Amino acid sequence: MMLERNETHDPALKSWVDSANQPDCDFPIQNLPFAVLRRKGSNESFRGAVAIGDQALDLAAVAALELYDGELQHSLEACAQPALNHFMSLGAERWHELRLELSRMLRKDSPRQAALGGCLIPLDQVEYRVPCRIGDYTDFYTSIHHATNVGRLFRPDNPLLPNYQWIPIGYHGRSSSIEVSGHELRRPWGQTKAPDAEQPSFGPCKRLDYELEVGIYIGTGNALGEAIPIEQAESHVFGYCVFNDWSARDLQAWEYVPLGPFLAKNFASTISPWIVTQEALIPFRRPWSRDPADPQPVDYLDSEQNRAQGALDIRLEVAMDTRAMREQGLAPQRLGRSSFVDSYWTTAQMVAHHTVNGCNLQPGDFFGSGTQSGASDDALGSLLELTRGGKQPIELPGGETRTFLEDGDRVIMRAWCEAEDARHIGFGNAEATVRD
Ligand code: MN
Repeated sequence: MMLERNETHDPALKSWVDSANQPDCDFPIQNLPFAVLRRKGSNESFRGAVAIGDQALDLAAVAALELYDGELQHSLEACAQPALNHFMSLGAERWHELRLELSRMLRKDSPRQAALGGCLIPLDQVEYRVPCRIGDYTDFYTSIHHATNVGRLFRPDNPLLPNYQWIPIGYHGRSSSIEVSGHELRRPWGQTKAPDAEQPSFGPCKRLDYELEVGIYIGTGNALGEAIPIEQAESHVFGYCVFNDWSARDLQAWEYVPLGPFLAKNFASTISPWIVTQEALIPFRRPWSRDPADPQPVDYLDSEQNRAQGALDIRLEVAMDTRAMREQGLAPQRLGRSSFVDSYWTTAQMVAHHTVNGCNLQPGDFFGSGTQSGASDDALGSLLELTRGGKQPIELPGGETRTFLEDGDRVIMRAWCEAEDARHIGFGNAEATVRD
């Protein structure tokens, strides 16, 4: 499956929804991301929608118009459900077919405009839910900068363990605590042990952190026992979001040996509401290569296509504010900016590796990319890195300092793509507040 541009990516396309044509709009007609939503505060059923400008096109309302028959109508009815799993299971041909029709119906001068006017809901009047039933959630660790920075805190002389350059490291996380942007989270309690203490103590987490990640939704799965070859991996990926994988560093330090993360990770994760599709991201694909001095990927993690266009330039940003900052009307402080293009492993390699032993992926499964940090100090994706393990506090506008998060702090992540020959597209925000 080569991922090639088509008419839906044409940067000159304009929509009859005027707000979509603003140059800085996150949701121009070239994007068309999916979410599950309803009118805020209503008892309506949740259903699928695509964003266009400052509006959501309600796909249940579009399906009810019965403008189409055959596969397109079937796809629209799948999108009308309160979870997108069925639509995700239909596969890349059906996803493309619907995207093409959505692009045509929302274009300026479309004959569908009159019929569709009543299917729009302003985005400031909707509430979201997690857009599919996430059966399984796997968290990877694909930024070598993050892995090295974190490793250095624990093992100054040997920061990167030898397996890192050979396999995309990951662990199985927990999907039940993934929530959609705008929620509050409770500070986790648990066991911690200071290095010089004889016994662990129990209490609220004191080293609460965020992790700036890309989230990846699997569309079509594979049968148990049958691996997905890397050449086919991309056709199983439905789309992407921005993802905050909240972490309790003090719980983590005590519990992680020998089986890895557990309660330090499973208390909360935050997704942005919209899924930016694989197809919308085609203009932002980039060649992927491995430093010649590093081990080259083994055969099942290597392909011509992965080298030609396996990387994705999704720009990521994390910012925060505190209760005091909000009370003083101070803008959130940016803490780091990075890009998924710098990831040591690609999405195709994650999919191929996850299934190489026969493990079955299912529609709606979710991957975290792992914290995405870049090489520079302004490209760090966690407080653990930014404050050097809590040793160097950061200063915030208004005079407060932080090593880790305090109650009332809000973390705001966003993502976008830009390129010279493409229209800017945005992902929207993943934000959540630590409960007071
Ligand atoms: Mn993580």
